[in-house]
Order: sequence, then C-alpha cells, then structure tokens
Amino acid sequence: MAGNIAKVAGVEISTDHWIGGRRVTSSRKFADLSPIDGSHLADVAAGGKVEVDQAVAAARKAFPAWAALGPKGRLPILKRFAEGIRARANELAAVETMDNGSLLIGNVHRVVPRAAQNIEFFAEWALTLRGHSIDSPEVVNHVRYDPAGVAALITPWNAPLMLTTWKVGPALAAGNTVVVKPPEWAPLTCSLMADIAHAAGVPAGVLNVVQGIGEEAGDALVNHPDVDRISFTGSTDTAKIIGQAAARSITPMSAELGGKSPFIVCADADLDAAAQTVAAQYMNAGQVCLAGTRIMVEKSIEPGFLEKVRTAASHMVVGDPRDKDTRVGPLITKEHFERVAGFVERAKADGAVPLWGGSRANFGELYFQPTLFANVNPSLEIAQREVFGPVLTWQSFSDDDEVIELANNTKYGLAATLFSGNEARATAIASRVVAGTVWVNCFFVRDLAAPFGGSRDSGIGREGGTWSFDFYTDIKNISVRKGSFA
Ligand code: NAD
Repeated sequence: MAGNIAKVAGVEISTDHWIGGRRVTSSRKFADLSPIDGSHLADVAAGGKVEVDQAVAAARKAFPAWAALGPKGRLPILKRFAEGIRARANELAAVETMDNGSLLIGNVHRVVPRAAQNIEFFAEWALTLRGHSIDSPEVVNHVRYDPAGVAALITPWNAPLMLTTWKVGPALAAGNTVVVKPPEWAPLTCSLMADIAHAAGVPAGVLNVVQGIGEEAGDALVNHPDVDRISFTGSTDTAKIIGQAAARSITPMSAELGGKSPFIVCADADLDAAAQTVAAQYMNAGQVCLAGTRIMVEKSIEPGFLEKVRTAASHMVVGDPRDKDTRVGPLITKEHFERVAGFVERAKADGAVPLWGGSRANFGELYFQPTLFANVNPSLEIAQREVFGPVLTWQSFSDDDEVIELANNTKYGLAATLFSGNEARATAIASRVVAGTVWVNCFFVRDLAAPFGGSRDSGIGREGGTWSFDFYTDIKNISVRKGSFA
C-alpha cells in the first residue's frame, strides 16, 4: 500500500485522502487517538479547501459516465462493493472499535453487516426507479428520477461506517458521485471503505474521501459551489451552521441530528422486556442518537419497575469494548467526558437525584458509570438537552395525556420507544408523540425501506427506501403533447 499508512488492530490503513482514484496527502495532519486507552492510532491528513476542490472536481468529472451506467449497470459494481465490506468484516469491526470505542460484538454482528446492506439494498432498490407516466387530457407526463450530481456526505464519529454507507449507498445507486468527509475523531473505517470500493470496481472519482477537521474540510465542502446535495448527520448546532451554507447556494440538505427521546412504559406492558430495553439504552455509553434517555413510567408500577431496571442495569458491564461481556465502553474524548460530567454535576445542583451512577467509572479515564436521575423536573437541563452519554432520567405519569405532554416537551423529535400490552392505547400514544420513528414493544429495529429522520431540532427530511431517492435525485416531468409526433 502506497502513501502514509497506520496499522490498527493489525490492519493497514491509509491515512491519506482518496481523491480521483488515488491517494493524496496533506502536509498538515491531525492525531487520531483511541478512546479505549488514549493510545495514538494515526496521524491523518488534514484536508482543507485545496483537497476539497480537487475532490469535488474529480467527482464532477466522473459524474456523467457513472450516471449514464444506469441502475442496472451500477448494480454489479455496488454488489461487489457490499461483498467487499462483508469480506473484510472482522477488520472493519476491529478498527471501528479501536477508533470510536463502540462495542466490538455490536460491530461484528450488527454494524458491519448493516454497512454492506446499506450498499446492496439501495443498489437493488434503484432498479425500481424506472419513472412512470401520468396521463392528462392534452399531454402525457413522463416522470424521471435523474441523479442530482455531486453529493457532499458528512458523518459523526459514533457510527462512521454505518452512517457513511447509509448515505453512500443511495447516493451512488441513484447515479450521483460523492465526496465523503469522515469524522475527525474516528476517521479510519471510511478510509478502508474507499479501498473496498476501489477494489470492487467503483470508477475513479465516483467516491472520494477528504479527511479533516469539520470547521475546515467540512466547511469547505458544504460551501463548495459545485456541490448539488448536502447530506449531514451530526449535532443540531453544526446543522445550523451547515444550513446557512446550504441556504446561500440553495443546495438541498438533509439533516439527521440529535435527540432526547422519550421511553414510555405503561402499566399494561411486558415489564421484564421493558426493563431489559431500558438498560440497553446504556449501550455504547449512551452515544447513540436514537437512545431513549427520558424514561417515563406509569405511576402504579413505579417502585416494582424501578427494581427490575436496577437489576437489568447492573448487568451493563463497564469496560473494554473489545471484551464480549462489556456493554458500556468509553466516551469518545476527554472533552466529551467533561461535557457529560458537566451535565451530571449541573443536574445534581438543580436538585435531580442520582439513583445510581453519577461519576467516573472505576475502569479508565474516559469511562462513565451508567447513571439514572430521579426527581427530574421536566424543565431541567438534564431533561431537555442531549447528553450523549450513559445518563437517563426517570419521570412518572398518571394518564396518557400527561405522558404525551411530557414526551413532547423538548425541542427534539427523533425517536420514541413505547412499551404497552394494549394495542389501541399504544397506537393512540404513538400517533400523538412527535418523533420520526416510534418503536412499540421493540427498540432500534430499522428496515432500510422505511423512512428515517427527525422532526423539529432532530432533522430535516427523511431518508430510507424511496425517501432516499427523492433526496438524491432531481425529479423531472417531461410533458409531451399528445399526437405531436407522427
Ligand atoms: P458534530 O456535529 O460535531 O460533527 C459531525 C460531523 O460534522 C463531523 O464529521 C464534523 O467534522 C463535521 N463538522 C463539524 N463542523 C462542521 C462545519 N462547520 N461544516 C461542515 N462539517 C462540520 O457531531 P458529532 O459530535 O460528531 O456527533 C454527535 C451528534 O450526532 C449527536 O448530536 C448525535 O445525536 C448526532 N447523531 C445523529 C444521528 C441520526 O441519525 N439522527 C446519528 C448519529 C449521531
């Protein structure tokens, strides 16, 4: 392998950009550390405007030929891409764990298979993008889904491979070319993804990766005049900055952002299943956008259910994410640890009471104890803002109107989880909660054909299935006067 290489978990990884089918470096680098133990993993090329200009130009150049292949022509290449991900599953899983501290067991069994599926599913689904006709009295309207052009894809560190392929899959399948800006706190699996795409036969310039810091490389990318789509997953604050760039150039933007999702437990629910699922919100140290962090329990079952949750949470072992028994690994960086600890200290000062946890775990510098706060007034910061750590709040309710008001009482609207044994009641509550996804008696189940996204401050637009293609294509109507051709 040419250029600058790091060896992580025994895997050789290029730390350079991937632009126009070749490795390109930058004189400046940024350090990539492992949250597991602070070890130095790599010095990664820090791209800026120059590299972004090169990558967007390469993507523009590659666009006509890639678009012209059509979904059928792209399908075998993208299937090989998906196969390539599967073939390197163990390497990708191990590198992701070292880079962002996510659970190895989860990466092996869920994240990497899902990454492959992201590519394959949309490549197959694109075959349905044949367009259709609408008959009117004077004309026939031929509706087409044309690829939009160059898509800028920006993703966060908590699940870089899964979230990047979730964008790369539909964007490429629809005939676009892409420039990916990976997260600077976990940039490595996106570099491996470029190698896999190349080996699968994805042509030069179709998929480009520019490494770098968000405020520099990311900013250059979203402000580039030759970008046709911006797809962003990350924090609401960053989305507001990117949204301004998108607005200046009127570039369509999709945003999948943070959350403060309610987790509602009704007295008629399967309480053992509900308690296990509450405890599962601590997985990956709570660094999961979809986590149901506000637990809302019907008053009549409160004391008994709390004991069930306490028992389930006691099995959430804090430790090294490479260990198969670990459920709660490290927080991503020292700054993020301090941010989480700050939320916890302010919650205590505000009068919230930790029923368990509340401080650093006895394992390592970046490990925080699974924490549950009671006595939480809904207006407190801890009930309103996304912590992105293993910190849950406990509230109770007496009737459905009360829980719906409580559930909808934040600026977010990403997801909600609801446990109930009464179908009519569950349906009524689910339909009144503001959220892009509501899980009833389950959690984290996502079909790629279903819409995904957030309401309010949790996002703009929906992706998944047809909705991804609505975003990554220009929908055109060719309106032909009837009888105007002999
Ligand atoms: P972040 O917003 O700080 O960074 C996300 C990405 O944006 C990174 O690649 C970063 O380099 C880039 N970036 C930062 N500033 C930029 C700028 N000015 N211009 C262009 N790009 C810029 O978020 P994070 O801390 O990496 O991720 C955590 C957040 O992501 C949480 O809020 C979490 O809820 C959210 N998230 C949402 C989903 C979802 O699907 N809704 C999934 C995962 C994470």
